[in-house]
Amino acid sequence: MGTTREERIETRTRNEKWQNAPLRIEMLECINCDACLRHCPPNFGAIFNHGADVVIIPELCSGCDKCLPACPVDCIYPDPDWQPANVPDDWWTLPLSSHDPY
Ligand code: SF4
Ligand code: SF4
Repeated sequence: MGTTREERIETRTRNEKWQNAPLRIEMLECINCDACLRHCPPNFGAIFNHGADVVIIPELCSGCDKCLPACPVDCIYPDPDWQPANVPDDWWTLPLSSHDPY
């Protein structure tokens, strides 16, 4: 389940083989520079502009850490305790929409 990005979006599930926790952006520290967004590999495509915020959809985030060195204020953190139910429903309107940068 969740082998391709399309499958992860369709089923809203993470790839169960991913060992690393997904990352989250601390919105109080983020300066909305979008640098991380450009460093997330398209096959994951986990970071989105959501209104004034920049967000990571955890089901799409493999924990590859490629976004970390891009962040000028180090406000991206592992989120080992994430729960699918905590992901706002409207975040899921972003992947594969006209707001999908990948
Ligand atoms: S850890 Fe990897 S997959 Fe997750 S948001 Fe950062 S670059 Fe994207
Ligand atoms: S790189 Fe860091 S500061 Fe810039 S948008 Fe991403 S999380 Fe926010």
